[in-house]
Amino acid sequence: MELKLYDTLTKDKQPFRPLDSNNVRMYVCGPTVYDFAHIGNARPVIVFDVLFRLLRHVYGESHVKYVRNITDVDDKINDRALRDYPGLPLNEAIRKVTEQTEWQFHDDVDALGCLRPTVEPRATEHVAEMRAIIEKLIKNGNAYVEQDHVLFKVASDPNYGKLARRSLDEMLAGARVDVAPYKHDAMDFVLWKPSKPGEPSWPSPGGIKPEGRPGWHIECSAMAWKHLGEQFDIHGGGIDLVFPHHENELAQSCCAFHEARMANVWMHNGFLQVEGEKMSKSLGNFVTIRELLTGWRGRSWPGDALRFAMMQTHYRSPIDWSLVLCDNAFNTLKDFFSVAAATTSENPPASIVEALADDLNTPKVIAELHALRRQVRSTGDEASVALGDALAFLGLDAERFSAWVAKADASVLSGAGKVDDLIAARAAARARKDFKESDRLRDELAARGIVLKDGKDVDGNPVTTWEIAR
Ligand code: AMP
Ligand code: ZN
Repeated sequence: MELKLYDTLTKDKQPFRPLDSNNVRMYVCGPTVYDFAHIGNARPVIVFDVLFRLLRHVYGESHVKYVRNITDVDDKINDRALRDYPGLPLNEAIRKVTEQTEWQFHDDVDALGCLRPTVEPRATEHVAEMRAIIEKLIKNGNAYVEQDHVLFKVASDPNYGKLARRSLDEMLAGARVDVAPYKHDAMDFVLWKPSKPGEPSWPSPGGIKPEGRPGWHIECSAMAWKHLGEQFDIHGGGIDLVFPHHENELAQSCCAFHEARMANVWMHNGFLQVEGEKMSKSLGNFVTIRELLTGWRGRSWPGDALRFAMMQTHYRSPIDWSLVLCDNAFNTLKDFFSVAAATTSENPPASIVEALADDLNTPKVIAELHALRRQVRSTGDEASVALGDALAFLGLDAERFSAWVAKADASVLSGAGKVDDLIAARAAARARKDFKESDRLRDELAARGIVLKDGKDVDGNPVTTWEIAR
């Protein structure tokens, strides 16, 4: 088996050769912690979790280091802190917002079956490394100080633009760069800037007197350097990060360390849209992971079903998220779990590993799962064990799935009151031909997630059974 990965920089699929197979290193840009993560944010988390599991399988669990940062310095965080905790000093309010959001994020991605990365560095704990890189860039002639800002001098880097493969005009438009008085050139981007009064601030690099705060791109260069070194194997994130974020990270790190490459492979997941449209609050189709787990349009799904839904599409293609996608994923997975043996992730079937090794071909993986499901009918136990092994390897957990279903059912039942009593009342209403009341009782149950099925028993007498709507 040969692992092949698509590299955004070279634009082709290549055999993966780690710099050191005893220490395979991957960095993925993580969340900015100011609010619940949306289902689009879940995509890179799931995609790179699948890759992490595959790398651990190929190179050994203790030979893979996965770093996913937490961005805890950002204007959106400051705005949220001011809004939610107007009485608190800003820095304290910011800490509350970031800690709470980080817990929420962990709960959500745990439910999606994602392993915790090896390290989850916080930007605010790596300001010294950011300053060190900035000093190197100034010394190397790649950055300059102007009006208490430090800027990266794009013209000093002949390789700038190679990742995004865009013309200067396209890059200018894409970066939505401001023409600012402290910029020598419109393309130059901020490495360090002054903090506004009351905002978080740190001693500045480059001999700047007032304290300041880092730009966004330098955070990832600093955290990747600290935890993975000057060069590492894989750098990942969503496709929207290619430009300007990754282009800028690449420029900073390569110029600071005099390296030709920052990461050997750049991987980007395609975008997620909801029911054919870009997800946005104004379109009313914005949905968080938490809402999908607990209630979206009157429905909810276990995290394993959401993970499985995400795997239906190849990671580089756009994905269209919908209610039907979630329902189908739920039903298929429920069927798989109903016949799969309870087992562990240690011995995945070769067909599954091979499909993943081909640039994480999860649609092929799913076809293989269906093939195993068909084999359960003919070969029984053997295929049932293989299916169980495959599901466990993919991070799909039968126990967690059933626990979610049991909890959701219990909550429907408690909300519906005594289902049997309501059904008996409806039968009585029907018997006295009070159809208005019997319909009302049926609707009341339906509103609480119970569907009634009217039929006849063996003697031809009417009977009503019920089930929980899915
Ligand atoms: P952010 O918190 O916006 O910086 O995003 C965190 C991660 O989620 C990044 O890797 C983004 O590329 C990714 N991301 C954000 N929105 C989407 C989306 N709609 N589809 C896929 N990935 C996304
Ligand atoms: Zn980043």
